[in-house]
Amino acid sequence: MSKDINNNLGFQTRAVHKGNGIDKETGAIKRPITMANSYELPYDPSDLNWSSAGKNLYTRNGGSNQQYLQEKLASLEGGEDAVVLASGVAALSGLFFALLKSGDHVIFSSVTYIAVYRLLNELLNNKFGVETTIVDTSNVENVKKAIKPNTKLIHIETPGNPTLTISDIKAIAKVAHDNGALLSVDNTFASPYNQRPVELGADFTVESLTKYINGHGDAMGGAIIGKKKYLDIIRAQSQINLGATISPFNAWLIMRGSVTLPLRMKQHNENALKVAKYLQTVKGVSFVAYPGLENHPNHQIAKEQMTNGYGGVLSFGLKADHDTYNRFVSHLNVITSAVSLGHDESLIVFLGENDERQYLYPEEFHNGFFRFSVGIEDADDIIADLQQAFEKENLV
Ligand SMILES: *Cc1c(COP(=O)(O)O)cnc(C)c1O
Repeated sequence: MSKDINNNLGFQTRAVHKGNGIDKETGAIKRPITMANSYELPYDPSDLNWSSAGKNLYTRNGGSNQQYLQEKLASLEGGEDAVVLASGVAALSGLFFALLKSGDHVIFSSVTYIAVYRLLNELLNNKFGVETTIVDTSNVENVKKAIKPNTKLIHIETPGNPTLTISDIKAIAKVAHDNGALLSVDNTFASPYNQRPVELGADFTVESLTKYINGHGDAMGGAIIGKKKYLDIIRAQSQINLGATISPFNAWLIMRGSVTLPLRMKQHNENALKVAKYLQTVKGVSFVAYPGLENHPNHQIAKEQMTNGYGGVLSFGLKADHDTYNRFVSHLNVITSAVSLGHDESLIVFLGENDERQYLYPEEFHNGFFRFSVGIEDADDIIADLQQAFEKENLV
């Protein structure tokens, strides 16, 4: 018997049950991984559309593990439909390539994941004639001013990677829709547990599943959530014809990881706030950027649109030189030096002063800083690990 897990049930219940079901063949209570890349054809296959996602045919066109995960993500993000692809960047490029054509104008946040900057500011505009404007979207007035008659898409990231800049989703959705444009929001840092852009008026949520949704640092994936009429186009063009399909195994891993998303996010939210408050007391820390702190420039907006908490990522600077940053990391024991974020374990990365996009960041970031993804370990152990590293560098 398959369960009726409707969208009126709670977030945790849906994180556990959505997209799962009893396997008809074996009676197993977890749906299996289907690694076969092809499905049996009907008696007469000659009328089939080989580029269609409608029917299981070939795994690049869609497979069962991908579909189960799509079902769960659409529900958790509050959207009509979802497309799951091979990585967060596949989802971002999939959205841009399917939606934009030469002559269209795009406004995007000055603080975004690096690949967004490369895609919009270097590839799509230089090679494909898409017009782009980089805007500090933390102030909605800047977005209004940048609108042109050919503005097709506004793409924002909130909280933004790596400065934790916050943009007002509701207000920017209104600007987009008043001017016939669409809004996409990268929700990777918040996760649907803390923030659901589509429910706030965005047309698309885009996110890396590699981060919080999988949560265990062992699989890559990306998703776009929104209206079916757009997602069908993205599925046909970006998945089937550009080929950014997720592996069934990764879809299965992410499905498994996502079961504990609400539990993990509670702990990330709690730990990150504790760590942010601790860092504010350290003499050698030059600044702490975390939307949960009252001194964050857009704390009020964050509070309104991030309903359960502020996520696990924060950034902070040292009153110290380049070499001190590297030595500080070498003293850490519990915390791991690695890129990525949203894993179970705490991850820190030193972002040096020679980032070409630095001029787009607030001033305090210009001398280098740490991006710190606070994990779900005991908060006291994370803080003690930081404390002993600060002591070794005489920064307390
Ligand atoms: C990591 C990240 C991405 C890209 O995701 P991948 O899965 O690494 O391709 C996109 N946006 C944000 C905000 C990210 O942190």
